[in-house]
Amino acid sequence: MMLAACRPPSPSATSATSQRTYELRDARWLGADGFQPGTRYAVAGRLTRQRPAHVDSVIDLAGRWIVPPFGEAHNHNVDYTTPRRTDSLLARYLHDGVFYVQNPGSLPRGRDSLAGRVNVPGAIDVTFANGLLTATGGHPMGLYNRNLARGGMTVADGDGAFFWLIDSLPDLERKWPRILPQHPDFIKIVLVHSEDYARRRNDSTFFNWRGMDPALVPAVVQRAHAAGLRVGAHVDTRGDFHNALVGGVDEILHIPGFRGDERTQLTDTAPYEITEADAKLAAARGVVVVTTEGGALGFDPRGTDSTRRRQFDALATRNLRVLRAAGVRLALGSDTYRDDSVLEAEYLATLGVFTPLDLLRLWSEATPRAIYPQRRVGCLDDGCEASFLALSADPTTDFANTKRIALRMKDGRLLP
Ligand SMILES: [Zn+2]
Repeated sequence: MMLAACRPPSPSATSATSQRTYELRDARWLGADGFQPGTRYAVAGRLTRQRPAHVDSVIDLAGRWIVPPFGEAHNHNVDYTTPRRTDSLLARYLHDGVFYVQNPGSLPRGRDSLAGRVNVPGAIDVTFANGLLTATGGHPMGLYNRNLARGGMTVADGDGAFFWLIDSLPDLERKWPRILPQHPDFIKIVLVHSEDYARRRNDSTFFNWRGMDPALVPAVVQRAHAAGLRVGAHVDTRGDFHNALVGGVDEILHIPGFRGDERTQLTDTAPYEITEADAKLAAARGVVVVTTEGGALGFDPRGTDSTRRRQFDALATRNLRVLRAAGVRLALGSDTYRDDSVLEAEYLATLGVFTPLDLLRLWSEATPRAIYPQRRVGCLDDGCEASFLALSADPTTDFANTKRIALRMKDGRLLP
């Protein structure tokens, strides 16, 4: 569901005036009809087939395969740690060609400290949800408590910062006016086994394994949409997937079963199997579903975890097939601190659900568009942002060729 544009244009998109004009000679450009040979131009930060009156320099692309830069639709690692670690993380994103990142849950002070390092020319573009809306004792309070104990977060980083505890409509009414002034790029809500909400809400056994009352979802969505903000939901089960959908969210930030149960087990997969009816509803509403399936890579297919790995692989394959058959919009995301969506893409490539071309389009076209629905990203047509990767071998014959990046351009600027 697309909303009216409310977001200000990104700084990198508006500072195009100081850019050089490039002739991008003799490449193969990804588009609706696959890779098409030709020459294009980068003029004032946009791509065009029209030769401009003046060209500053010519780049001979020598038949390379040009794709839009990749996206990462679920990662919390774009956050401030130390200057050195932050710089190396951001450099890795650029190196891997992942230029668009969605952070669905972060500390506002972490975001503030990234000012000047992201969303500026030559850097990656990132959207932030800020604190997530969850219930008392809900996910991610376990993570918060661990950070508190270790000294990584303070009491002030809790309710009203890293998360918002919303247990009732009055809570939402009282706290909502404090959420907007923190300027979230979108709103993230947490649903965890919400089909079992009534039983879990006051049972300490389920601390950190519960989330918001699903009955509150429409009230959040209505307020967010009125403010021009999309809503994304954390989900664990097919019940959560259903409740998020009927509650009217725009994005579902996991595929059910991605992390198994409280002990990362998947003994019974039924609670995680998306129904065909829900997949059809998601497709009809244009809801984007973010994969985050690569956690299965932690289970060695030839080691002691091989059974569990097969269970995760089988469920991911099944759910992806159901979503795909229904025509649901997918986006690629890892939700893994050690990843920048490269491992996620690699994992998905092993499942055999997607051809290399499908997966390439998912990663370089659909994911950037899901993160920035108002921008001309994820495309190489006339008027699209002049951002691309030049691959030195064909990614449709071997998906691993997505790693062979010979040249990177972002917003009309060559990256070092
Ligand atoms: Zn997450």
